[in-house]
Amino acid sequence: MPQWSTTPPLQSAEFSYRLIRAPACRPIALTLISSKPQGTYTHYTKGRTLPCDGDGCSACKEGHPYRWHAYLAARVDGTREKVILELTAQAAEQLLPALNEFKTLRAVAILLERPARRPNGRIRITIAPGRRPENDLPPEPDIQRMMLHIWGLDDTSLTSRPGKHHFQHLTKEKKHNGEVPQNPSTLP
Ligand SMILES: [Zn+2]
Repeated sequence: MPQWSTTPPLQSAEFSYRLIRAPACRPIALTLISSKPQGTYTHYTKGRTLPCDGDGCSACKEGHPYRWHAYLAARVDGTREKVILELTAQAAEQLLPALNEFKTLRAVAILLERPARRPNGRIRITIAPGRRPENDLPPEPDIQRMMLHIWGLDDTSLTSRPGKHHFQHLTKEKKHNGEVPQNPSTLP
């Protein structure tokens, strides 16, 4: 039987993004490709980060803590490598002034670092003045779909094996009894 889907499979170009966190050892200069962060609650279980599944989430039931993370596409200055940045709420909040000023984060240049030089040290983001030429950047990718792929919650061939989770994750609103860590609600 054919398995129909309403969206095309991920473009292969979207698989070329590598997921990174702020490096501990040295600052990294990037140009943002995404226009806005995409945030969701996540759990760190079994050695990896996975999204909270909302109502009925097994990690929640097992008592695992959750944290809000933002994801956005960027290009590393110099190497031009395309990456998805995973940012804490505290880090994503530092992007809000630029988002307010430019109405988009796309083509905004940032310096990302952990001043304490520790893997889980606080992240500091320094925003360069102005914006870079936008036409030099790759098109904005679909971060939500790319993250589903990275988390293994999609099927790489959506047209042949649509994932049960696929559309649920894109639309589900996460509520945790009013608890909101570190002002994620201020993000657009
Ligand atoms: Zn959960």
